[in-house]
Amino acid sequence: MRIDILPLCDKHYRTMAPAVAPFSADYSIEFFQCTAEFCQRCFSERLGYVTPKRNEPPLIRSDQPRCEQHGRPMFISSLDRQRNVIRYACPEENCRETSSDNIEAGGQLRHHP
Ligand SMILES: [Zn+2]
Ligand SMILES: [Zn+2]
Repeated sequence: MRIDILPLCDKHYRTMAPAVAPFSADYSIEFFQCTAEFCQRCFSERLGYVTPKRNEPPLIRSDQPRCEQHGRPMFISSLDRQRNVIRYACPEENCRETSSDNIEAGGQLRHHP
């Protein structure tokens, strides 16, 4: 996972902080977690945006954008609050693939029909 750009939470558009979840002594996964209080939102380069729940399989967003080149779930890299546009970037290092989406004023993702 690249570290030059930090992902933003897809609910709060807050910068997410890197975290490591130790599964066992020699296996751990890296992910990013929203820094907002009580927000459980995470981004991992394998799953995309998920809210982890104990003993439940992760629920992957059906509208999660993916990099066309790598097939990776893309993360929100920036928010233009003037135009209400979010930009997505690929978690693969040096990948220049980007995507953008419109959000409603105030912050929620606009749902496409
Ligand atoms: Zn959040
Ligand atoms: Zn890519």
